[in-house]
Amino acid sequence: MHSNFRNKEIAGIISKKINSISKDLGEIKIMHVCGTHEDTITRYGIRSLLPENIGLISGPGCPVCVTTQREIDEAVFLAEKEITITTFGDMLNVPGSNGSLADAKANGGDVRVVYSITDSVEIARKNPEKEIVHIAIGFETTAPTSAIGINDAPENFSILSCHRLIPPAMEFLLRSEDVDIDGFINPGHVSTIIGAKAYEGISKKYGIPQVISGFEPLDVLFSVFILLSMIKKKERGVVNEYSRVVRYEGNPRALKAMNEIFETYDVEWRGFPEIPNSGLRLRGKFSGYDARKRFDVKVKKTRIHKGCMCGEVLKGKISPDECRLFANVCNPGHPIGPCMVSKEGACGIAYRYGKDGKN
Ligand code: SF4
Repeated sequence: MHSNFRNKEIAGIISKKINSISKDLGEIKIMHVCGTHEDTITRYGIRSLLPENIGLISGPGCPVCVTTQREIDEAVFLAEKEITITTFGDMLNVPGSNGSLADAKANGGDVRVVYSITDSVEIARKNPEKEIVHIAIGFETTAPTSAIGINDAPENFSILSCHRLIPPAMEFLLRSEDVDIDGFINPGHVSTIIGAKAYEGISKKYGIPQVISGFEPLDVLFSVFILLSMIKKKERGVVNEYSRVVRYEGNPRALKAMNEIFETYDVEWRGFPEIPNSGLRLRGKFSGYDARKRFDVKVKKTRIHKGCMCGEVLKGKISPDECRLFANVCNPGHPIGPCMVSKEGACGIAYRYGKDGKN
């Protein structure tokens, strides 16, 4: 299956078609909002197959990267109490204002890496004398799993919800005067949950074409071609390139689980002000599982390294190598911002594969 989606000959044919269709289009900017897409694009050198007038930019699609400094500080605040913290590995080394979760662990905090919230709930069940807080991050892909975990959790378990929703961020970008976007490549994993239907309102309201894309190089390349064809024909709708996985309705059961436990609220994203209805917090009747309320989490003023431009990278305004700290002061061994820490972060990906990719 993989070889079909990585065939260089077919890539060459699509690339020629893209070059031909792009000739009279002027400057076009296509944004994707998914760390896995950025990995595919950079690893396989897809940008090098596009003509100069077609820009393929990375948006706020890495869940660890969009988590704010305040949320990192909240997690560290909890780790410094007598509380067991569970988190995904990528979060461990994100620098907070006064250190990371890894630093809190080194200083004696009980910080454990888990692969899912289910592992965390299991830790809580086996240690009823301890308080367990799971740092719940991610978009619509992981929020339903968090919801299911909470439904099944013992009383000594709670979460620090850092969940966010992708469509409100896309709308925010389309309303921003300083970000130009001619089309979106929509995230495959998120779309599996919310379905193609969830984006239709955005296309109607903002007159923007969108293509839901799979993660193989030919998926992304073909999605670019579809988008450019739509732009040329002035078509404004949602095309599902990833129909082998994504359904029009998404996954109604997962959406129901998510909506039963969580409600939306206005929340900041790293580099962004509050985006209306873009965060998920626990509904009132589940507030006992809300670590912020349970432990009266308070953080003082937050600090971010002055030179870190993660916010600009996440808005698609600069590429990682335009940050002057990239690859010298900031590298995977000494990350300054989350975009270098996470395996889905644009800076880490650019550092890993370089400009021309590795495959
Ligand atoms: S290279 Fe490092 S410092 Fe610069 S934006 Fe990326 S993470 Fe921040």
